[in-house]
Amino acid sequence: MKHGIFLLLTSTLLLSGAAQADEKQVDFKLEQLKKNLYVLYGRGGNIAVSSGEDGIYIVDDQFANLSDDIKAQLKTLNKAAPEFVINTHHHGDHTGGNENFANAGSHIIAHHNVYERLKEKHGADSDYLPVLSFGQDMKLNFNQEQAHLWHYHHAHTDGDAVVFFKNANAVHMGDLFFNLGSLPFVDVDGGGSLNGLMKAIEDIIHKIDDKTIVIPGHGQVTNKSALIHYLALLNQAKSLMLKAMHVGASLEDVVTARPLAPLELQYASWLPEERVTTLFYRSLTEK
Ligand SMILES: [Zn+2]
Repeated sequence: MKHGIFLLLTSTLLLSGAAQADEKQVDFKLEQLKKNLYVLYGRGGNIAVSSGEDGIYIVDDQFANLSDDIKAQLKTLNKAAPEFVINTHHHGDHTGGNENFANAGSHIIAHHNVYERLKEKHGADSDYLPVLSFGQDMKLNFNQEQAHLWHYHHAHTDGDAVVFFKNANAVHMGDLFFNLGSLPFVDVDGGGSLNGLMKAIEDIIHKIDDKTIVIPGHGQVTNKSALIHYLALLNQAKSLMLKAMHVGASLEDVVTARPLAPLELQYASWLPEERVTTLFYRSLTEK
């Protein structure tokens, strides 16, 4: 019997070793931002962590295969499972851990449209689905903090929530903002819109101040002036696009003309210039 258990353990270790080798090691970094607020960098969307007297909750949960590692990171702050997991939107790099966290006792919170999109993907009975969903906004009073979840319609997707932490003076932007020095992913098929995203950024700039900690969906934590630069870049990109499109040029014509080239930006391999141009074109022509 003992021998059997040993074999089982060995093969499990071997299997997980192989899986790790395939996916490369993820370097998690947990950084304190304010007394009760942290950011956890890993692979996928940045996780905001509120940890204090009432317990712990997180904003976004990256990929399913990282849940155990994320839980281990969170346990260094608080032994209890997160009370809540807020999803900023439905994409898999922000909601992939939902089922694992729900099974550990966490309550998933997201906008109504995130519920619908996750239901479409995982089925009506799935633990991936939020147990609490909201429309325009919702407030979470926990850990001597008021987190204000505010929905921006048709921005990165049609279910975006930005989380304003009142006492910490911080904001989690979800994927309305990639702090990677480049242009955003406007998920047109997921209800996103370039104009909606720009309006949202403008509104957030008005709601925050020079001391606000800005947590982007991806990239390093930053501040309001980075958002102002980002909005200026979006305005530039939009006017370049409109100039290339004004004579009724087809999508093919515009992609070939490379209107965004003068911006001299670096693009991620999954979101090359051509794809950004296509999504912006589609967004600016769609009614
Ligand atoms: Zn996203």
